Amino acid sequence: MRYSQALIPTRKENPVDAELPSHRLLMRAGYIEQLTAGIYTLMPLAWRCVQKIERIVREELNAAGAQEILLPMVQPAEIWQLSGRWDHYGKELLRFQDRKNQDYCLSPTHEEGVTDLAKRHIRSYRSMPINLYQIQVKFRDELRPRGGLMRGREFIMKDGYSFDVDYENAEKAYKRMYDAYTRIFKRCGLSFRAVEADSGNIGGSHSHEFQVLAQTGEDRILSCSKCGYAANEEKAEVKRTVSVTSFSPDAATPAREEVYTPGQHSIDEVTTFLKAEPNQSIKTLVYLADGKPVVILMRGNDNLNEIKLQRVLDCEQLVMASDTAIEEVMGSKPGSLGPCGCTLPIYADLNVAMMHDCICGANHTDYHFIHVEPGRDFNVKAIEDLVLAQEGDACPHCGEPLQAFRGIEVGHVFLLGTKYSVPMGATYLDEKGDSHPCVMGCYGIGITRVLAAAIEQYNDENGINLPAAIAPYHVILAPLQLRSETILNTTEKIYDALQKAGIEVLYDDRDIRPGVKFKDDDLIGVPYRITIGEKNLANGKVEFKHRSDKDAQLIDVDKIVEFVKEKIAADIANVQP
Ligand code: ATP
Ligand code: MG
Repeated sequence: MRYSQALIPTRKENPVDAELPSHRLLMRAGYIEQLTAGIYTLMPLAWRCVQKIERIVREELNAAGAQEILLPMVQPAEIWQLSGRWDHYGKELLRFQDRKNQDYCLSPTHEEGVTDLAKRHIRSYRSMPINLYQIQVKFRDELRPRGGLMRGREFIMKDGYSFDVDYENAEKAYKRMYDAYTRIFKRCGLSFRAVEADSGNIGGSHSHEFQVLAQTGEDRILSCSKCGYAANEEKAEVKRTVSVTSFSPDAATPAREEVYTPGQHSIDEVTTFLKAEPNQSIKTLVYLADGKPVVILMRGNDNLNEIKLQRVLDCEQLVMASDTAIEEVMGSKPGSLGPCGCTLPIYADLNVAMMHDCICGANHTDYHFIHVEPGRDFNVKAIEDLVLAQEGDACPHCGEPLQAFRGIEVGHVFLLGTKYSVPMGATYLDEKGDSHPCVMGCYGIGITRVLAAAIEQYNDENGINLPAAIAPYHVILAPLQLRSETILNTTEKIYDALQKAGIEVLYDDRDIRPGVKFKDDDLIGVPYRITIGEKNLANGKVEFKHRSDKDAQLIDVDKIVEFVKEKIAADIANVQP
């Protein structure tokens, strides 16, 4: 491609609202254009990268036995009503009506669509295993689209679904997809971790997120460098040394006393005011579990893991109570809440059971209790493991301190079980003619998010610096003196030869100052640059440099094509598993 004819609208200024480096650079390097909030046009450079990512995905999934299809993006309400998600999905699901007032939605994911398809074609155990995938635009009306391609409303996703006769076979399909994902992200040149994620009621380690490691990531990961355990924060287990089901009050604790704590609400404010430490204070939280209020007690310096709580309470919906609801059920504003005298069901984390002589709110705005003794001054319905894992907590497998990382979720594999096949009636007949629901798995990759995540990992002060496997071009060809015949002829010859050798070249034929040229070339992040200038060419040489190198090396002009070819092949092979 000749640069003078390419649509690469680079910008000098950083877009004002772009906080993430990838968002800034995608805009500045002319990769994307915003149409409206969370909706972007992929310009030629981004589209080239996306197609390369898609190609890697297709190659690996096809090799793993999956088949590509394309499901309709517009979905009728009926199938979403069958699964029950028409009412439960919430506002991310964009619903609309056609001219006959029939309800439809734009698909944010395709469990319904694919289960409906499977139901029509799976008859007996002989129809399985089957594994289908598609690469398609999805729409989710995200509350806060942000970060350019990172969290769009319209974005490209690869979604795949497996159907098997039983859990044993479904687990094999899951493992094959897990392995394929590992190869895909390695081939993209990304540094990532597969981490255990919450798998709802299926349990076990049957949900993994593929997280690209980046400081700017939205997700927190905890991992153990000794045994390799890795999980997202919500799922991460902690080895608890405490294991009790009731309190053991300490008789030495003085009698409880109410103290005036004007304007002191947070744990830090209250404990500083009372000259105590956060771990001496009890944090009291109020949640609504399927609409019913429950009280949760945590040690002041611990945080609650809502997923663990939801599992303990075995409820469908868990939300934090609003300030008004709290005042209504507790008789006090948040900031002065406590368990003493409370008649609601109370659940305490294990660490609370180890506390003695503590501080808590008095359920009386601006008052706290001191010398509170668990088991003497209040009791609870249950003592449970509710704590959110933090860096330094003990690994659940080996006890080593866990390390914390930030990540970007680029993929998710999930053993669904029969969640959709049962309500939607996707069943099969076994050898004896008995009917069973198919056991499903689902597997997503955020294709456009992979590009954003790759840029988060690969950028520097000059711009984007993508690995060769997913960069928009392999080489930039930059002649310095465009008015010199010799230079032009040589450049044209190299350009032809590179293209014939299957190398993707961007020929920077723009008649501008070399400084400006190089700035743009660095910004858009093509791995290699060949610079052709009069002085070197007089000695039969051209300059060759990787985007990350400071200095160029001189290569014989008649050897350059072979040299570049080998370099790129090595780069791409290097990241292959
Ligand atoms: P998130 O927690 O980031 O919202 P999710 O759990 O909703 O993700 P899935 O439903 O598992 O995501 O979708 C599969 C993949 O699609 C995700 O792993 C992610 O890479 C990508 N993805 C999800 N939402 C978006 C979005 N709004 N923009 C871009 N990619 C997305
Ligand atoms: Mg989401």
